[in-house]
Amino acid sequence: MNTARATPSDLASAIRNVPDFPSPGIQFKDITPVLASPTLFAACIEQLVGPWQPGQIDAVVGIDARGFIFAAAAALQLRAGFVPIRKQGKLPYHTYEERYDLEYGSNTIAIHQDAFTPGNRVLLIDDLLATGGTAAAAASLVTKAGAQVLEIAFFIELSFLHGREKLRPHPVRSLVVY
Ligand code: AMP
Repeated sequence: MNTARATPSDLASAIRNVPDFPSPGIQFKDITPVLASPTLFAACIEQLVGPWQPGQIDAVVGIDARGFIFAAAAALQLRAGFVPIRKQGKLPYHTYEERYDLEYGSNTIAIHQDAFTPGNRVLLIDDLLATGGTAAAAASLVTKAGAQVLEIAFFIELSFLHGREKLRPHPVRSLVVY
């Protein structure tokens, strides 16, 4: 199988489902077998970049932590910058923060206030779309920092959680849908 021929279904076959991790009832989608395969990892990045060409995206934004793996590689392919969105308390300079609710409790993520030049065109990437809370908060941080989200791309989407609805009106694309 070469990179060009690896389809989303080849990628899907390599995702390992781990029941009851990190807590009972969660079906954890383990992407490490995809990352460990040079052909599948390359295909995954190519497909996440999708229709975008160098010159159309100024920055690829990745969400802490697995989003970094995909977003940094996509940024290189698009010859764009990479901007991290991190968990609260990790970025060293002035930040904007956004809190969102989880099933139990809440979480806060942050971006550097000077991450973008005003109007920068952003491709936002994360590994997995579940309820959409994380990506919605991330998109809102990108907007707050003065850039525009052209698209939000995920390797995996758990469509039965309807996370997509939380991301309106941003265009959303995902490679493997459960
Ligand atoms: P959410 O905010 O509910 O859309 O959750 C998305 C974030 O949680 C992503 O950054 C994922 O890495 C992680 N996540 C949620 N559910 C799963 C799952 N079933 N398997 C792996 N990661 C998950």
